[in-house]
Amino acid sequence: MSEPSVGREPLIRLEHVSRRYVRGVDEVHALEDCSLEVSQGRFAAFMGPSGSGKSTLLNLVSGIDRPSDGRVFVSGQLLNELDEDELAAWRARHVGLIFQFFNLIPVLSARDNVALPLLLSDLSRAERTRRAEIALRVVGLEHRVDHSPRTLSGGEQQRVAIARALVSDPDLIVADEPTGDLDAKNAEATLDLLRQLKEEFGKTVVMVTHDPRALRFVDQVFHLDKGLLLEGEEARRAHDALALAAGGPVRAREV
Ligand code: ADP
Ligand code: MG
Repeated sequence: MSEPSVGREPLIRLEHVSRRYVRGVDEVHALEDCSLEVSQGRFAAFMGPSGSGKSTLLNLVSGIDRPSDGRVFVSGQLLNELDEDELAAWRARHVGLIFQFFNLIPVLSARDNVALPLLLSDLSRAERTRRAEIALRVVGLEHRVDHSPRTLSGGEQQRVAIARALVSDPDLIVADEPTGDLDAKNAEATLDLLRQLKEEFGKTVVMVTHDPRALRFVDQVFHLDKGLLLEGEEARRAHDALALAAGGPVRAREV
């Protein structure tokens, strides 16, 4: 076994990244001059009010979107220099995506939902099925492989979605409001599972959330407001307010 390389190098590095949208005659500054690093094998959260640029930031990190300015490095790759096709291929290999509303396909079993990202690979059907079943075991759903999403609880559906994000063994797991549609118990179970992916498999996990409970699970928090990454005293104040709402011991420190 090779030594764990946790924390050695940044898996994500953003250098002076901005993203502007043109809307009619207006220009929306969704993100302005954002620089940050997330080390390999860490669990980081982007937090901030609605419209502060969290999803924009996540989409840049996962190669779904491109910056107007600045450079985005993930896993040693400068994403700016990839064209659309290269970016899609890069994403399929390196990123697992998790969404608020799970985005499962209702007519497919849990197993087939999880196996879907592997359709892009040249693995045999038997191997795709085998890997999907392993991923479902990791999230504790080996007894639900044949179930369709509508026969599963919200918490179980999110675990199927997490298995789907894991199945291609990506370096980076990216989740946009993964607990936004879950009750308290399932929200905590989901956060705990994401933390486990970091601890047991060395995954780097980056999540957007409003949920103050997330502070009890993550290693690193970035606070956003109006497209700006807060720093210093402003970040500390935002952090303290959330920590107060978290209702328990908080692991994460502003980094
Ligand atoms: P958050 O996820 O924090 O709620 P977003 O990153 O979705 O915020 O959005 C940040 C800002 O950028 C908002 O003002 C939003 O309206 C704007 N925005 C996001 N996507 C687009 C788009 N495709 N076109 C125009 N404006 C957008
Ligand atoms: Mg959002």
